[in-house]
Amino acid sequence: MNHIEQHLQEIRERIQTACERVGRGSDEVTLIAVSKNFPVEDIRIAWDAGQKHFGENRWQEAEAKIPMLPHALQWHCIGALQRNKVRKVLPHFCLIHSIDSLRLAAYANEVAKEEGLYPAVLLQVNLAGELTKSGFSPEDLERDAETLFALDRLEIQGLMTVPPPVEKPEDARGWFSEMRQWRDTFSERYGVNLPILSMGMSGDFEVAIEEGATHVRVGSAIFGNRRSLA
Ligand SMILES: *Cc1c(COP(=O)(O)O)cnc(C)c1O
Repeated sequence: MNHIEQHLQEIRERIQTACERVGRGSDEVTLIAVSKNFPVEDIRIAWDAGQKHFGENRWQEAEAKIPMLPHALQWHCIGALQRNKVRKVLPHFCLIHSIDSLRLAAYANEVAKEEGLYPAVLLQVNLAGELTKSGFSPEDLERDAETLFALDRLEIQGLMTVPPPVEKPEDARGWFSEMRQWRDTFSERYGVNLPILSMGMSGDFEVAIEEGATHVRVGSAIFGNRRSLA
């Protein structure tokens, strides 16, 4: 068995076990294989092993890969989205995880209208207010929520976060739990349905699942250490 197939099998088992620990069904969690920096051959191996959802963080890279792979792959946009890429990105991704400002949301809404689309998106939350990361702080979200939820072409389905780096996976639990509380607060306050929580990566996806993640984004634990495509 190829290492990618083997890793996928192991990750699926770990997802199942994490779900069982907290009484969730493993069908409540979508595994997104983050294929950035890995070649189409690796993606095809994962696809042939039954993996359906893949995440990319740069349009230039995704643009080259998408036409070389089966049409039925589900692509997730997980990286910073530049305004000048929005029109190209929208039709190709089943979920945009990285709407990180009101300005970007309003622009994507405008483009979606022009293109006749209703894209599914998540709001990226920068819980710790890290300067190196983009995303809404909880205060930004409180300020902008009404305007965001009134955008008529964006299907805002939930929240995404990348918590600050931690030493042990367990140390991330508080961030994941806070994220879930913000989701509950916002959906109650604005009467909106926000079923998706995109959180957890190779190092901490089990803790994220225990705290309510519905989408985990796992790269290196499936494909190995990232190398350059060049
Ligand atoms: C690269 C990346 C991941 C995957 O990271 P791994 O540690 O390799 O699992 C998940 N989410 C985002 C936003 C990323 O950029």
